[in-house]
Amino acid sequence: MNYAPVIASKGDLIMSLSVLRNLPSIDQLLQREALQDLIAKSGRDVVRDRLRLVLDELRREIVGSNGSADSLGDGAKLAGEIEQRLRESFSLRQKSQTQKVINATGVVVHTNLGRAPLSHAALEAINQVAADYSNLEYDLVSGKRGKRGTGLEAMLKELLGCEAAAVVNNCAAAVLITLNTLGEGGEVIISRGELIEIGGSFRIPDVIAKSGARIREVGTTNRTRLSDYEKAINENTKVILRAHPSNYRIVGFTEKPSLEELARLASEHGLPLFEDLGSGCLVDLNPLGIHDEPTVQQAVKAGASVIAFSGDKLLGGPQSGIILGESELIKRIKSNPLMRALRVDKLTFAALEATIAAYLSGRALEEIPVQSALHLSKETVTRRARLFIRRARKITNDFQFNAIEGHSVVGGGSAPGNQLPTTLISITSSRLAAVEIEERLRANSPPIITRIVNDNLVIDLRTVSPAAENEILSAFAKLV
Ligand SMILES: *Cc1c(COP(=O)(O)O)cnc(C)c1O
Repeated sequence: MNYAPVIASKGDLIMSLSVLRNLPSIDQLLQREALQDLIAKSGRDVVRDRLRLVLDELRREIVGSNGSADSLGDGAKLAGEIEQRLRESFSLRQKSQTQKVINATGVVVHTNLGRAPLSHAALEAINQVAADYSNLEYDLVSGKRGKRGTGLEAMLKELLGCEAAAVVNNCAAAVLITLNTLGEGGEVIISRGELIEIGGSFRIPDVIAKSGARIREVGTTNRTRLSDYEKAINENTKVILRAHPSNYRIVGFTEKPSLEELARLASEHGLPLFEDLGSGCLVDLNPLGIHDEPTVQQAVKAGASVIAFSGDKLLGGPQSGIILGESELIKRIKSNPLMRALRVDKLTFAALEATIAAYLSGRALEEIPVQSALHLSKETVTRRARLFIRRARKITNDFQFNAIEGHSVVGGGSAPGNQLPTTLISITSSRLAAVEIEERLRANSPPIITRIVNDNLVIDLRTVSPAAENEILSAFAKLV
């Protein structure tokens, strides 16, 4: 058997030393023509610091290489190697920074891609409030200290007919603070069919535990009756929780009480009924063939005492968690010390108010990007796809563009069984495999995120703005 030597031979060490001696100095490197663009863009000090790291790493590799680093050779070759590593390090840093991407996947609420793009009105509102002072906690009528979110609360009451409202950082925070306020030290009743995980380690049983309440599971995975809830109620019961199974469905032999029935039971026992809606759609999606996404209005009407939902899923606003409910309960939630830790900033209030304003004025389907994308008809997507293909064919013969039938996805853990009919653009090449095209589009500036369906790269224009279409076309022009 052959064992690799643990200690480098004397000869290897001498070779490594000669490579080390050939390493150019930082000052020599900074003068190189090839680095001037990086210096101009990032500044000399930043490039110098980064060069130091690259050189340290290279030195360690050479010493640890038992002489094999000899192939790195003379000063000029080493400088080339250093330059390349430096560029990779800058590019890696740049890629990990938050930036715009083009979502060509057709997944409308894509959690990995930042969920909802904001409306123009929301962007304008953010601009106004961000660039100047604002009345965030100042009452313009009395000229005295005011409360955060008063304006938004009034808008939500008007739009949804709830008694009161509060806003926190996201829906997970809304669930946590509500359960902590209403359930701490007591029992929370929930059906076994709703012990859900949303993803990103948000699991209902864990959140209940963190809220300081104890979980009391009732029923079975597929069937839970009103009487199961009723039998579980005891002197320690503090809340009945219902969680919308956002990202999965139990089908077949199933049963669960309606929200109205649960609300009646809760009220008979003087208990609050808390509905975690998740997506919280304000628009009835039945006309789109999406039949199991309840609206917030329905939950309010059914008599839930408290309702929580996300601001950046189907609502189409900024990341936030909206809590609606009875005045007395919302007041207790607002005075929970956790509120200070979970509250949102002025930018979120500005964007959320502008988003809600679109619903109030009846223009949500036109103005809110998530809603526009969902309501885009198949005919419109098809027309845009055909036009795109015609333009693309003029730009390049290296790729074949074809329209094929397919489906867009709602996403964001909403309506998992539902797909919206769409026309996809399939893109193939005799020189590049689908994964290679995907990778190159992802490396574009701005990055273009696509899907691979049956080994073919596809683009779904449902989630692509007309301006972004042009950027995709120029990306292909560059790929030629
Ligand atoms: C998405 C979701 C959450 C978490 O919402 P975030 O806004 O991502 O914190 C909680 N509950 C349900 C039912 C959900 O669908």
